[in-house]
Amino acid sequence: MTHLADNLAGKRVAVIGGGIAGLSAAKDLARLGAGVVLVEKSETLGGHAAGYGCKAADRCVKCGACIVEETIREVRATPGIEVHLLSTLDDVHRDGRYTLTLTPADGLDDAPVVAVQADAVVLATGFKPYDPREKPYGYKTFPNVVTNLELEAMIRGTDQVIRPSDGAAPDRMAFFQCVGSRDAKLGHLWCSQVCCGSALRMARWMRSRRPGTDITFFYIDVQTFGKDFDVFYRAAKDEIRMIRALPADLYPVSEDGLKAVFFDPETHEPREAVFDMVVLSIGLLPGADNPLMATLLDAPLTDDGFLAKTADSADGVFPAGTATGPMSIPDAIQSAEKTVRDVVRYLEKN
Ligand SMILES: Cc1cc2nc3c(=O)[nH]c(=O)nc-3n(C[C@H](O)[C@H](O)[C@H](O)COP(=O)(O)OP(=O)(O)OC[C@H]3O[C@@H](n4cnc5c(N)ncnc54)[C@H](O)[C@@H]3O)c2cc1C
Ligand code: SF4
Ligand code: SF4
Repeated sequence: MTHLADNLAGKRVAVIGGGIAGLSAAKDLARLGAGVVLVEKSETLGGHAAGYGCKAADRCVKCGACIVEETIREVRATPGIEVHLLSTLDDVHRDGRYTLTLTPADGLDDAPVVAVQADAVVLATGFKPYDPREKPYGYKTFPNVVTNLELEAMIRGTDQVIRPSDGAAPDRMAFFQCVGSRDAKLGHLWCSQVCCGSALRMARWMRSRRPGTDITFFYIDVQTFGKDFDVFYRAAKDEIRMIRALPADLYPVSEDGLKAVFFDPETHEPREAVFDMVVLSIGLLPGADNPLMATLLDAPLTDDGFLAKTADSADGVFPAGTATGPMSIPDAIQSAEKTVRDVVRYLEKN
């Protein structure tokens, strides 16, 4: 550690994006002795995961949400990290070191433009959630159709799940999986990795609060992750009706009901079922700023539009976290740790 701290003294790294990946990278680099400039577009640190609620029922289900708060505290307490909120990268010059021009985010036109120097850049600009309005599920038209992100925010904000239309607790809930992921028509062939686990955790949390809630899970197949997931999944299957099909249509019926039409995988016949509330498990898409970052910093993109992983960058530009593809909070932390090792190796040589 001392040896690394000596080698990194006087070096500065810009970390673009203050989600869990950027926070972890910033904290680790600063602890290793580098000066860190952390640039975050929004007004708060934490990224998407800062909006998730605790889904512990009788015990912790390892959703990872609290790791984010803990990491923000650690970043705030670590010397050597200069945080720029409501800022984004606008221009880049390289003459030995990088000079990065940070401009204020939209709506802050009178805030100053800042130039910062850096020897290396970590790109942790995260993912963009899929917008499901183009799917035949009435999102933004039927009030009781919400996304998994909105359900997370509801759990975090109110510690309960209610129907937006009337504030009543839903008796019949459905989760539609793979909305915007694994979808050849959209050209999104990837699995978003986290939405099966996230939906099952939210469903079990709801059952622990209101054991009578009837929950149906429409899926293609279940992506498991984490070492305890199999045990968790076996328990979830006892409480949740699992239907291996994705509804083709959803439309309103009397008294705020929503009727889903799907192809029964067992009888091979069309079937219908009515719900009070439907949750769309939307997928993780490439971050909106990936093309800009790729242009400004000459960073390669994958065919899908994520930033290509780079272990050995000649230019000192290293992506981390979901900017490189869908992954969970623990995997985004691991990705940041690996990126920090790559940055250190680069800084030691340059
Ligand atoms: C509905 C849902 C539920 C999930 N549930 C779980 C779960 O239970 N457990 C789990 O482990 N994972 C879960 N995930 C995945 C989790 O959200 C991600 O693993 C995590 O958010 C990745 O962090 P990140 O830092 O890579 O990206 P992000 O969280 O997207 O953070 C990126 C940050 O970069 C900032 N940024 C973007 N562009 C710029 C720019 N140009 N300049 C400056 N800043 C910029 C953004 O404002 C943001 O703060 C879930 C995902 C979804 C969609
Ligand atoms: S990991 Fe998730 S379930 Fe466990 S305590 Fe933290 S927020 Fe709650
Ligand atoms: S994690 Fe589950 S819901 Fe999400 S894309 Fe993969 S299989 Fe579909």
